[in-house]
Amino acid sequence: MRESELIWKGIPVSPGVTHAKTYHYKASNVVIEEGYFEPAKVQDKLKLFHDTFSEAIIELHDLYELFAKKDKKNADIFAVHIQIIEGSSIQQKVLQAIEQEYMQVDYAIATVFDAYIDKFSKIQDELVSTRANDLHDLKIRLLSICNKQQTHELSNLTEDVIVVADTIYPSDIATLDKTHVKGIITQTGGAFSHAAMLARSLSLPAIFGIENVMETLPDGQRLYMDGEKGIASLNEEDVLGAQQTPACKHEQESTYIEKETILKDGKRVQIGINIDALEQVDAGLPYDYVGLFRTEFVYMQNDHLPTEEEQFVVYRKALECANGKIVTLRTLDVGGDKIPPYLTWKKELNPVLGERGIRFCFAHEELFLTQLKAMLRASVYGQLWIMFPMVTSLEDIQKAKSYVRQAMEILDREQIPYDKDIKLGIMIEVPAIAMLADVVADEVDFASVGTNDLSQYLSASDRMNEKVAEYCAYQTPAMIRILHFIAQAFEEKAKPLSVCGEMAMDKEGAVILAGLGIYNLSVDTRSVLRVKETLAQYTQGEAMELASQYEEVLTWRKEKFDI
Ligand code: PEP
Ligand code: MG
Repeated sequence: MRESELIWKGIPVSPGVTHAKTYHYKASNVVIEEGYFEPAKVQDKLKLFHDTFSEAIIELHDLYELFAKKDKKNADIFAVHIQIIEGSSIQQKVLQAIEQEYMQVDYAIATVFDAYIDKFSKIQDELVSTRANDLHDLKIRLLSICNKQQTHELSNLTEDVIVVADTIYPSDIATLDKTHVKGIITQTGGAFSHAAMLARSLSLPAIFGIENVMETLPDGQRLYMDGEKGIASLNEEDVLGAQQTPACKHEQESTYIEKETILKDGKRVQIGINIDALEQVDAGLPYDYVGLFRTEFVYMQNDHLPTEEEQFVVYRKALECANGKIVTLRTLDVGGDKIPPYLTWKKELNPVLGERGIRFCFAHEELFLTQLKAMLRASVYGQLWIMFPMVTSLEDIQKAKSYVRQAMEILDREQIPYDKDIKLGIMIEVPAIAMLADVVADEVDFASVGTNDLSQYLSASDRMNEKVAEYCAYQTPAMIRILHFIAQAFEEKAKPLSVCGEMAMDKEGAVILAGLGIYNLSVDTRSVLRVKETLAQYTQGEAMELASQYEEVLTWRKEKFDI
């Protein structure tokens, strides 16, 4: 919404007050559709092919010139890229795929480059794997030129900016220049989108959902924004005048650093943390466990598919920093809005309902086994639990476990130690598996409810779409009923159940969850103290009362506890 000529109002996504020049950015996920063209169009396609390669060569020469003056080493990288692209074999193969197989130009580029990258990545040699990275870079450059999309240019800025975009993807945020990007403003996106969560975890002020923002908010203007209130203005007073210093609130919360998390009547609640970067494990916070390590960010912050060794180093460090506490590593959850920039993604009609999470891993066995091996190898350095995202059926659970067994067999053959009794659990975020919670509880060692996706899939409303934000809520009768069913199932089987979705970070949400009998809440690092403080204000009975306002499903608990 636009309130006046100078004020823009949207969904408050990530708090913080900041100002900088606006910077218009057109985000793009490199999504390539498998595609072929009619033979009659071959001349047009060949023109596109020649234009794409010529433009890439010009860009690379420009970059070479730019860096040659200040940094010879970096300039050499572009010299290598020019050699690769001008060398006959890759260009020739792309040309053949277009001329002889009638592949669309982008699909031909992606197919040929991927075949080389795949071959190079399997060779255990540092020089060769550097070459695979060069090929990734080149592929992205060519695809961006071919499809007239921008590359991830937010990673290299020279001045402070507030990024203004139609859409921002998690991969943009994961790779952006953290020194110079001061805030983000977009037209699309909801408060529970992955991009929103990443912005919060980086403490990067963000406002989403401002209609026509690219048209109405000029480029290169000094802008003031308040992420908590969701307002931005060209006028300093509009934003800073209304600001209140939250100092006394922080003081109050910080008294909970030393305290255990207990409800008013003494019931202990375990507070976990959700992390997407290593630094957060060691942030000096009073947490009981790491309830969710979103490992996809190890993939998204990289410019290539991380190797087993690279992943092992990260997971091992996480366990060492956690100092004996449980660290729940979630296996790769890409798809939907989370696409690592170097992966060639086949376009899907409804990606959030498509090959996401464990489904993607099942379809990419090598990649899945590599990650599982890295996790298992790290498991001897602490208490590591493995969790699978987007599980839909009991068959998915069996299949995921069989991959873990395969990874274990490989390590056994290589005589590499790992925790033989490693705990395996799932995210409950698809309604189909939530409805089987009573059976699931027998099949897994633990589970964690992803309320962000569960509310999205239960209410059939995209968590990224600000227009349906009202439906995609977790405090609804349907959500409370399904959460209650899950909680009851896991309590009866005495299996650990946690919640790691945003609901656990919401003041009322956390209390409701405790009221439903879920006493493990995993929250982002910014919310730990706030959730501790909130829970301490309620007894179990009061928490149940709050939950029952949404749905009269708590009778059995009330009877059990005689409340
Ligand atoms: C969730 O769906 O609630 C969750 C924690 O996973 P993500 O937000 O990463 O999809
Ligand atoms: Mg999820």
